[in-house]
Amino acid sequence: MTDPSTPARAPRPPKPIPDPRPGLSGLPDGGLESWLASEGQPAYRARQIRDGVWRQNAAAAEDLLTLPAALRAGLDRSFRMDTIAADEVTVADGGLTEKSLHLLSDGALVESVLMHYPARGFGRAGAGEDGRGSDGRPEHRERHTLCISSQAGCAVGCPFCATGELGFGRDLETAEILDQVRHAARRLAARKAHLTNVVFMGMGEPLLNLDRVLEAVAALSDPQRFGLGARHVVVSTSGVVPGIRRLTEINPQFTLAISLHAARDPLRDVLVPLNRRWPVAEVVAAARAHARVTGRRVSYEYVMISGVNDTDLDADALSGLLHGDLAHVNLIPMNPVAHTPWQASSPQRVTQFAARLREGGIGATVRRNRGQDAGAACGQLAANRAGEPPAPAVAHRRELIVRQSEVAMRGDRSVESLPADLEAAMAGRKGKR
Ligand code: SAH
Ligand code: SF4
Repeated sequence: MTDPSTPARAPRPPKPIPDPRPGLSGLPDGGLESWLASEGQPAYRARQIRDGVWRQNAAAAEDLLTLPAALRAGLDRSFRMDTIAADEVTVADGGLTEKSLHLLSDGALVESVLMHYPARGFGRAGAGEDGRGSDGRPEHRERHTLCISSQAGCAVGCPFCATGELGFGRDLETAEILDQVRHAARRLAARKAHLTNVVFMGMGEPLLNLDRVLEAVAALSDPQRFGLGARHVVVSTSGVVPGIRRLTEINPQFTLAISLHAARDPLRDVLVPLNRRWPVAEVVAAARAHARVTGRRVSYEYVMISGVNDTDLDADALSGLLHGDLAHVNLIPMNPVAHTPWQASSPQRVTQFAARLREGGIGATVRRNRGQDAGAACGQLAANRAGEPPAPAVAHRRELIVRQSEVAMRGDRSVESLPADLEAAMAGRKGKR
């Protein structure tokens, strides 16, 4: 029964009719040549079209002025030049962070975040001999990193994550992943800059949409298309073990990041519900094998939540778990999100936790949160747009999180089943949108 005093969710605008044409940027290698042949067009047009998509970042076929009008019309009939219908960009951190809410053609909303890192120390007198700038911090050239989404929503349901609260919408198409990159590249080109890094740390679990993520990385690293070295790409997972194993077999050049957040199963069952299917030791064993086979360091992400996963006991469990590995831990104070009973760990606690990890032989870096004033935690813009859920649903969610955490604090494994969305997503069924 609904409480009449409860504010209802904001009414959603009517759903747009999905556009059946595939996104042009998502065409696999050779796809353009096949299409041109089927249209009776010369193969050399492929390069001009690719330049339009990847250099000019064109939004419509009519912008490809090097092509004859009939070919532009043919392209428009067969493909969507841009799978993103509209963008809403919010700027934070004095212009250093730009958060985009992208509207897709079926009305789904996804987010990407563009972060600018001005050059530090680079090329200045006295800087460089020890790899550090004059402020003592590591030096680097100017960087522009884009954090992108691989799914609309996410089925994993981590309780500190705004995307997790939204639940699973659907997998993104390859072009929808790539068009987030093209939009950022277009904005950067206007300021004579270019993207230097792409990280799959936005909405969604990339390893539950792995085929498309791999196609997207192939396009990003192809010199004929986006031309960003795969070494500048990071794919983050909450621990889909079969996906990690598949990546180890393929041996791609990108970096794998594992969202760990807890080293002990009872707590990780709560923080990352996928842990109920693949426990932490299996995740770390798969990551370890990946590092051994590929020779590339795996990085671990650890969101720090006050009084939940930031005790000395947690630090020791983490160093015990990763001891002797080619591993590095990034500590991220939790971004504030609605509807959790939790807060970020204090800066002192984060520093002490990092020091304890280092004493235990584990490399650790504290990451600063970006764009808190823009609703930094990924999924927040989309969650705001979805409207405030009814108060009883929020109360139920908080209660569940508290109850599950109490079980974890006693050291017991969760007896809860996987979230229904997650079962469905893993079985390859569609989400709710
Ligand atoms: N689903 C994948 C990739 C997207 S989430 C994964 O979980 O790895 C990317 C990162 O954002 C994860 O490390 C996740 O834990 C982190 N994150 C989510 N919500 C956060 C919050 N409220 N504060 C800080 N980091 C958060
Ligand atoms: Fe999904 Fe990652 Fe958010 Fe967990 S942290 S709900 S896996 S997007």
